[in-house]
Amino acid sequence: MAEVQPRKQSFTTRLGLALRPKKSTNRLRKQSTPEVKIKEVPPLPPTPPIGKRLQYGAVYRPSQDNTDEQTGERRDDTDLLHGLAHHESHDSLDSIVQLKRADLEAWRPPGEPLIASLPPALWELIASFLPPSDIASLAFSSKTLVVRLSLSPWLALDKPENLSERNTFLQRMDNHLPAHLLCFDCGTYHRRIQLGEEKLKPTLVFNPLYNCPSIGKPGFVPPRLRLTPGNTLPYTFVQLVFRAIKYSPNHGIALSSLARRWKDPTSEWTHQSRYYMYKGHLLMRVVSQSFAAPKLPPSGQRHLLYSREDYTPYFSCCAHWRDGELMNICKCALGHIPEQKQSIATQLKQGPQIQMALRHVNPIVTLCSTCRPMRRCPECPTEYLVELKLAEDKLDPVVKFKQVIAVTRWSDLGNGSSPYTPEWTSINGDGEYHSFNMMGKRAISGIFEAQSGVTMPGQRMLSLNPKNVKLGEDGHGWY
Ligand SMILES: [Zn+2]
Ligand SMILES: [Zn+2]
Ligand SMILES: [Zn+2]
Repeated sequence: MAEVQPRKQSFTTRLGLALRPKKSTNRLRKQSTPEVKIKEVPPLPPTPPIGKRLQYGAVYRPSQDNTDEQTGERRDDTDLLHGLAHHESHDSLDSIVQLKRADLEAWRPPGEPLIASLPPALWELIASFLPPSDIASLAFSSKTLVVRLSLSPWLALDKPENLSERNTFLQRMDNHLPAHLLCFDCGTYHRRIQLGEEKLKPTLVFNPLYNCPSIGKPGFVPPRLRLTPGNTLPYTFVQLVFRAIKYSPNHGIALSSLARRWKDPTSEWTHQSRYYMYKGHLLMRVVSQSFAAPKLPPSGQRHLLYSREDYTPYFSCCAHWRDGELMNICKCALGHIPEQKQSIATQLKQGPQIQMALRHVNPIVTLCSTCRPMRRCPECPTEYLVELKLAEDKLDPVVKFKQVIAVTRWSDLGNGSSPYTPEWTSINGDGEYHSFNMMGKRAISGIFEAQSGVTMPGQRMLSLNPKNVKLGEDGHGWY
């Protein structure tokens, strides 16, 4: 039988040795925190008990007695102190502070006597420096000022020539009228008849957001932006989006509800629009694309690019598309489309001649220096990019993968304050806007794509109209 060895170390000692930190790790570790030596603080001298001063006329009671004099209840001082502590989040505290401020505002002494103390001639002089909308707002602010300035500022706003001033005056009430929308053509707040249910529809679908007397008038066109043939963006929708952001969701519609995908009923073109808010400006991107056959003759290119109805491009563009290079760029890009890949057997079916190059066609097309760079319209805040991509045609059983021409358009639609902002009017072809001076190096496309984390490759930004020829429909190059 084996002799039992006497135990040299106890279990806890061995465990301690096993878990002991290694010497090497001790050596490598940098001593970061110096040992803090705690000084021994000498004990404070005993403070004399502070007595509570008795109120005038109060009856002295010994402190141990917590019984209420009238109800006989015992008062719990600890509970009382805990009740004073703040247990909730500080949001409610903030609201209390705000409430107090509002209270203070309500309790502030009225300024009417101060306004009335100034001579009426002085108020008239002040008003003479202001535009009609501001005089009307001043008269609207208090009874004393109405008496001082009379009703004439409001009567002035009723004149047709002061419509824009009237709109400026009315716009200041936008916050208080969530169920109404300011009509810039009448200078009136109309009631929203599709409250919260407003949806973008094609131009031909009658889709009024309010009952306006101007709508039935001959020749009346409500402010809107052309997107593609048969599709527009009415200004009222832009107005609703800005109101929802500025005031509350009840005042308008969500920005995301503007985004749409649609297909042109008469062609193969499909469109996709998206919107983005950047520094108080509404940015828009419309991607329009269509399958394109290789080696199209000029008539075929026109058939692909122009709508049969009004001879405008199928893709989304600004009002200046006839001037400059936009259409030439699209035609140049179409010229780069390679022929379909064909095996020798397929080629032999058509005839005895064989082209070896057609056996291996590179599907990735590189565009030339004319059609590849990004272009900016010099007359309005719009940028364009023409690309060729390979896409699957699910309807074609023979040739599955085809080249697609994609025209992307980015536009800055302005700050939405009215349909008369320089951005909105210039995109529609009215008013002057020098985009290269106004925007400088800031590219709308770059800002727009950066929001989804896409960095646009370093591209040259060329002018859409380098020669600055403005002939419009009278020019010869646009068709
Ligand atoms: Zn109206
Ligand atoms: Zn080219
Ligand atoms: Zn333009």
